[in-house]
Amino acid sequence: MSAAERRIETVRVELGARAYDILIGDGLIGAAGREIAARLPGARAAIVTDENVAARHAAALAASLEAAGIAATTITVAPGEKSKSFSMLEEVVDAVLAARLERGDAVIALGGGVVGDLAGFVAGIVRRGMRFVQMPTSLLAQVDSSVGGKTGINSPRGKNLVGVFNQPRLVLADTGTLDTLPSREFRAGYAEVAKYGLIDRPDFFAWLERNWREVFSGGPARAQAIAESCRAKAEIVARDEFETGDRALLNLGHTFGHALEAATNYDGNRLVHGEGVSIGVALAHRFSARLNLASPDDAARVEAHFRDVGLPWRMADIPGPLPDAETLLGFIQQDKKVTRGTLTFILTHGIGQSFIARDVPASEVLAFLKENHPG
Ligand code: NAD
Repeated sequence: MSAAERRIETVRVELGARAYDILIGDGLIGAAGREIAARLPGARAAIVTDENVAARHAAALAASLEAAGIAATTITVAPGEKSKSFSMLEEVVDAVLAARLERGDAVIALGGGVVGDLAGFVAGIVRRGMRFVQMPTSLLAQVDSSVGGKTGINSPRGKNLVGVFNQPRLVLADTGTLDTLPSREFRAGYAEVAKYGLIDRPDFFAWLERNWREVFSGGPARAQAIAESCRAKAEIVARDEFETGDRALLNLGHTFGHALEAATNYDGNRLVHGEGVSIGVALAHRFSARLNLASPDDAARVEAHFRDVGLPWRMADIPGPLPDAETLLGFIQQDKKVTRGTLTFILTHGIGQSFIARDVPASEVLAFLKENHPG
C-alpha cells in the first residue's frame, strides 16, 4: 500500500543537514522495515524497547525489519523512569556492542519517552554516534519526546541531567500502537497536545475543545491532533534547536509540573509526568491572571477543558498530602536558575499567547502557591 492509501502524514523537521521526517499513521510498524531500509541502506539494527511494549509490538517490528533484510537484535529494559539510569545505560551500551553493531547501523527506540530518551543517548555515544530511529508508542512520545533530539538519563541529583542532543534520522509514529496504551497514560500525553494550542495555536486549542472525544476514541482526529502537535514542536525546534531562546516555550506548565513531580517523589501512582504538566499548565494560566497578564476567563477555560477530559488541573487533585508552599517553591528554585530572587517562567497573555517571563519575583510565586495550596 502506498503512503497515501494508508493515510500517512509526513511532518518535516527542518534542521539543514540534520533534517528528518516524522511519519504518522496506523500500521507503520508493518512498514518500518521498508521505510528504514530506504533511508539507511545496508544498516543492521538494535531495537531498544521495554517489557510492556515488547510484549505487544516488538515481534511485529522484528518481522517487518526481517522482511526488509534488516538483521536486528532486541534489547528489552524494565518499564518506567528508573530505566533512565547509569546502570541501564551501561547494560544497553554493552548489549549493542555485544551485537557487534557499527557506527553505520541503527538503534531503534520502540516505546515511550523513557525508552526514546535512553536509546537516543545510547545511539549518541556508542562508537561516537550511531544512526538513530524513533518509534514512539505512547501519546506523549508521539507528540513530544521523540521529536527534537533531546536524549538522556536521570542523575540521582535530578531528572534529565545527563545526555546529548541527538536528532533521529526518522520518526515512525504508529498511531495503532496507542490502542494498547493504558488510558491514564493516553490522557497524560494529551496534556502535551493541549499545551501546543496554549503556547501559540489558539485555533488548535479551540479545535481540541470541540474534538477531544474523537481524539480519545481514535481514528482520523487522533492522527490529526498528533500531526498538528508534531508540526508545532518541529517549528519551534527548527527555530531554536539548542534551547537558547524560543524552545523554552515548550516548558509551559513544566516549572510547576516538575515541582509537583518532585514533591510526590516521582511516584507514578500519585502523579505521572503528563498529569504534572496538566496541573502546571492550568496553574501557569491562573498565575498569569493573578499577575494581571491575562483574563481569569482564560484560566477558567483551560481548567474546564482539563476537567472535561478527566485530567487533574489543580493541586487538590493529587492524592495524598503535599509539602507546604515554601517547600514547593524550593523545588521550583532547584529546577530553575534564580537570578537575584527572580525566576524564569512561561506565562501567558491569553489562550495561545504564551511568552517567556524572565523576572518573576519568587515572593509572587510563593503567595500564589499559598493561595492555591489544598492543605
Ligand atoms: P514511559 O516511556 O514510561 O511510558 C509510559 C508507560 O506506558 C510505560 O509503562 C510503558 O511501558 C507503557 N507503554 C508505552 N507505550 C505503550 C503501548 N503502546 N502499549 C502499552 N504500554 C505502553 O513514559 P512516557 O510518558 O512515554 O514518557 C515520559 C518520559 O519522557 C520521561 O522520562 C520524560 O522525561 C521524557 N520526555 C522527554 C522529552 C524529550 O524531549 N526528550 C520530552 C518530554 C518527556
